[in-house]
Amino acid sequence: MTERTFVMLKPDALHRGKVGEIIGQLEETGLQIAAIDIRSPSKELAREHYGPEIAERHGEDVRENLVEYISEFTVIPMVLQGRNAVSKVRDTMGESFDPMECSPGSIRGDLSSYSTDAATEEAIAIPNLIHGAESAEAAENEIDLWFPESEFAAYERPDFDYINDILG
Ligand code: GDP
Ligand code: MG
Repeated sequence: MTERTFVMLKPDALHRGKVGEIIGQLEETGLQIAAIDIRSPSKELAREHYGPEIAERHGEDVRENLVEYISEFTVIPMVLQGRNAVSKVRDTMGESFDPMECSPGSIRGDLSSYSTDAATEEAIAIPNLIHGAESAEAAENEIDLWFPESEFAAYERPDFDYINDILG
């Protein structure tokens, strides 16, 4: 099933010059970039993106640190589409928000050496390079928040059907 997902490269990906490498790894999965931008989100947008459920899961401090982090710096939001886009992106990111618990080969596992302990000590949100929506429903809500329909590019990768229908 073709679906869309929302991805955001966090400020550490830009500061460390890892944007090309990360987008390259995502493209390797066969997903197509449907929208992309470079932006410094307002605090309001950041707070809507990281909603109350983040505070419920990790505490109010983590939510506030995340809001500060992405609104103070610059991020690259994008929409990727293709078969099982949500889980493909989450698998490519790594299996945890803590890079030290992510497998080699994953974006977080290979490119970040932060841990929850290190971030807690520094009182910052864990710099783990990338956000990816956790479900198809969350993805659609996040896409609505970040991208008006007019910003979607009307093109298809020539290999899109091949990758999605033949390679699965
Ligand atoms: P994700 O979907 O894998 O990004 O994880 P979550 O949605 O659960 O958390 C959002 C973000 O909050 C993570 O990517 C981390 O940057 C940050 N975060 C989560 N848990 C912690 C924590 O215990 N301490 C700190 N400092 N940051 C955290
Ligand atoms: Mg999340």
